[in-house]
Amino acid sequence: MVDKQAMREEAERLMREAMAKKNLTVKQGDTRIMATCGKCGAENKVKAPRGETRVKFTCKECGVVQTTI
Ligand SMILES: [Zn+2]
Repeated sequence: MVDKQAMREEAERLMREAMAKKNLTVKQGDTRIMATCGKCGAENKVKAPRGETRVKFTCKECGVVQTTI
């Protein structure tokens, strides 16, 4: 009985660790793109997932929603 309980706890711990690692990997995969606004020319720092270059962002200066190129 005790062993079963211990095994279940261990399995849950491993799963939590795996999930934490996965979240960390996703975070590290994020990249920052410097996007120039097509309307006012302001530079915007845009957070994008790894490998993604076309990301929607809102210009911090004029508020125009656009996609990075
Ligand atoms: Zn703008």
